[in-house]
Amino acid sequence: MKGKYFVLQMVAALIIAGTAVSAPKSGERKSGSCGAEPDARIEEKAQTLCPVMGGAVDKQIFVDHDGKRVYFCCASCIDAFRETPEPYLEKLHRDGVRLEDAPKDADKKTT
Ligand SMILES: [Zn+2]
Repeated sequence: MKGKYFVLQMVAALIIAGTAVSAPKSGERKSGSCGAEPDARIEEKAQTLCPVMGGAVDKQIFVDHDGKRVYFCCASCIDAFRETPEPYLEKLHRDGVRLEDAPKDADKKTT
């Protein structure tokens, strides 16, 4: 049972060390990073281009995915998106596209 006690001591020591280290961070550290903006300043914009073919979207052609509405240029792009949504979502994200929220009650009438 000595081993178990030792583990408990270790855990306690880590917790104490953790709080001691993290406590003073809140106040002073800001001065260094102030003014130096992180380079992640991608401007968010509404979706205007189809993530599959890159054409202009038709607002009548869309899919609600994970609470977000994704527009496409034509219906066949929906099929491509539904098969593998991840790369298209990633592309939209990289392009700084902010997807519209899908209306809550839209889930019920799946096309
Ligand atoms: Zn298309």
